[in-house]
Amino acid sequence: MNLVLFGPPGAGKGTQAKLLTDKRGLPQLSTGDMLRAAVAAGSPLGLRVKSILEKGELVPDELVIDIIGQRYDQPDCAHGAVFDGFPRTIPQAEALDTMLAARGKQIDLVLELKVDDAVLLSRVEARIKAGGVLRSDDTPETLKHRLGVYYKNTAPLLDFYRAQGKLRTLDGMAPVGAVTAAVAVILDGPTAG
Ligand code: ADP
Repeated sequence: MNLVLFGPPGAGKGTQAKLLTDKRGLPQLSTGDMLRAAVAAGSPLGLRVKSILEKGELVPDELVIDIIGQRYDQPDCAHGAVFDGFPRTIPQAEALDTMLAARGKQIDLVLELKVDDAVLLSRVEARIKAGGVLRSDDTPETLKHRLGVYYKNTAPLLDFYRAQGKLRTLDGMAPVGAVTAAVAVILDGPTAG
């Protein structure tokens, strides 16, 4: 099964993706994690994207399409994967469909985690107050910018996947366990759990 976790920055996609990995053995394919790893490693890709990530802009489509294609061809994705933070633009979604079709696969479902902007901002502020290790793009200012990018470039994908009949929307403001339970109902049916 190939799933897309969809939603604004800070919606909880990574948290749910990790749970899907643990419970269902579907690897989490997070382009954000892959790009941050490239920055940390100082690779040519990392050097190219570092300032883009810091500003909260989108990395060029061809770069993320390339890294996701290479990652998907690893053996652990043979039975599917959870795409987290990808696709973020219509060209990325089209490239993903093409890549999967060439392998006899498809996106089965797109799970949208719906969270109000005010809640996203308060989550970031809570993380700052808690004083944990923060990403360089985890500031209220950059989050506002990333949200703007989300509404402009990424939210149009909701119609793209709705038209394919694949979109399921969940309340991302519910507690983590309740979101996980709602995901299980979608994947396994109402008798799940
Ligand atoms: P979040 O969902 O919290 O915004 P991510 O970890 O998914 O964070 O992404 C962090 C940053 O990495 C983005 O702001 C963007 O710069 C870059 N990025 C990640 N995925 C993509 C993508 N699919 N297309 C373009 N840029 C991306």
